[in-house]
Amino acid sequence: MIKGIAASRGIGIGSICVITEHDLTYDSSKIEDTTAEKQRFNDAVEAFKTETAAMADDIRKRIGPKEAEILQGHLVMISDPAMSGEMIKMIDYGQRAEYAVGAVCDMFIGMFSKMDDDMMRQRASDIGDIKVSLLKILLGIKDVDISKVAPGTILVAKDLTPSMTSQIVKENVAGIITEVGGKTSHSAILARALEIPAVLSVPDITSKVKDKDTAIVDGTEGNVYINPEGDVLSQYIIKREDFIRKQAELKNFLGKETVTADGQSLELFCNIGTPKDAKKALECDGEGIGLFRSEFLFMDNNHLPSEEEQFNAYKEAAQIMGGKTVIIRTLDIGGDKDIPYLNMKKEENPFLGYRAVRYCLGNKDTYKTQLKAMVRASAFGKIKIMVPLVTCVEEIRAVKEMVSEIKKELDNEGQKYDNDLEVGCMIETPAASLIADILAKEADFFSIGTNDLTQYTMSVDRGNSDVAYLYSPFQPSVLRSIKHIIECGNKEGITVGMCGEAAADHLMIPLLISFGLKEFSVNPVLVLTARCIISKWSKSEADALTEKIMAIDNEADIVKALKEVAKE
Ligand code: PEP
Ligand code: MG
Repeated sequence: MIKGIAASRGIGIGSICVITEHDLTYDSSKIEDTTAEKQRFNDAVEAFKTETAAMADDIRKRIGPKEAEILQGHLVMISDPAMSGEMIKMIDYGQRAEYAVGAVCDMFIGMFSKMDDDMMRQRASDIGDIKVSLLKILLGIKDVDISKVAPGTILVAKDLTPSMTSQIVKENVAGIITEVGGKTSHSAILARALEIPAVLSVPDITSKVKDKDTAIVDGTEGNVYINPEGDVLSQYIIKREDFIRKQAELKNFLGKETVTADGQSLELFCNIGTPKDAKKALECDGEGIGLFRSEFLFMDNNHLPSEEEQFNAYKEAAQIMGGKTVIIRTLDIGGDKDIPYLNMKKEENPFLGYRAVRYCLGNKDTYKTQLKAMVRASAFGKIKIMVPLVTCVEEIRAVKEMVSEIKKELDNEGQKYDNDLEVGCMIETPAASLIADILAKEADFFSIGTNDLTQYTMSVDRGNSDVAYLYSPFQPSVLRSIKHIIECGNKEGITVGMCGEAAADHLMIPLLISFGLKEFSVNPVLVLTARCIISKWSKSEADALTEKIMAIDNEADIVKALKEVAKE
């Protein structure tokens, strides 16, 4: 058995497909036969065009025309004589095709990445993609087509990039194992959204397995078995059936209210990344949106989305939710979330750097465009604005000030908006937690981001597997912080929610009920699980447990004590 991080629940049993990272180094020595080399180059370009056109077609059908446009752009660029002509010239001078592709692409990447215009800068990353694809063809490297893997496949990769994830056909992938990533990395969040069992941070797994090995992925416990013995396999087949049966039983909670065992009503919201996910939230019986990660709109684009594009996205989410709360978080970039066309400076310490609200308040034009789109969209539903990574009261004040200015502007323009639009803050830094009493007087609501609150409180990079043993919301320090935030919010009479992954943790839920949390925001696929667990705890029972837990001085004993009384 190999241990990793339990990132997406469930049991996957299947046949391994390893996604390897390829070495793209090439021979730079000169050649004699330039005619043959040019032919090799032209054949590679033709193969690139055929592959790219087929991929664009597939993406258009499976995902949408906008996503396919990027690949169409690659076809236009490679057909531009300025690019292929330069490559041919270098081959005429005796350079190998690989060298010509590498050198010319690097020259264009250097040129485009220095330009001021965002669209032009995006070209640099497009040319980077073209370079990699052409080199792979020239070097005879074949990538696995993730969208075409057979049913029952266990994907094994170093990391799962968003572009790999977009190719996954849920019905065919039984499990995911990666070498990097933690419980709250974006690959983990995506695996959960796709309901595929996943174990991350399994050291050197790509070199320990080969295609067609049998694997068991226990995404609930974080265990992986390669070519397991017959008795282990049969045990896990039973466990998988048990998990599937329990999931089916959860359907009994569809359409029910979210109430504790003693009848206290709580709100059970969803975390989403795109307006379309709001449909999924409704299908899963979410009662609102507690976190709309607006940065996906920026990350899935090759340009800064305009006010109109953003307005349409926020309005769409509000309309889909039909009057139910939609909390939209303003742009949360930096740290682990990069947007290539913004060309943000590389930082020594990105998690402590120019990110989230700090970046937004330093780039007021971009921020104002986003806030204005949100305020305008508030006329179409119950939108709330949420500010990430707040560390001092000035930040929330500055955002509120901008929102007031925007409202005046909209009045002058005769445009509608919700005058009661709330502006709240995420509490995800120790600084914000320590001044939660002050922030509660300024913010209209709180939402606790335990993914970052754990990272910053424990001083552990949330994606670093070497320190993952410290990354736990059950650390006494994190629990004390959560309790304090909820108490401060409740004292001031504002709603306190939680949108970090801990809100759906069956061990955490009784503690949150006892602390007085009012709104739980979880991955849509976990709505019914959370509702089921909430229904099993009464306030008095949760209080008794919490008193015991808060007196324990270390994480391991806290988790042990919680597991002893866990209700699933
Ligand atoms: C959090 O930090 O808990 C959170 C919800 O935000 P993200 O995971 O996007 O940083
Ligand atoms: Mg966060």
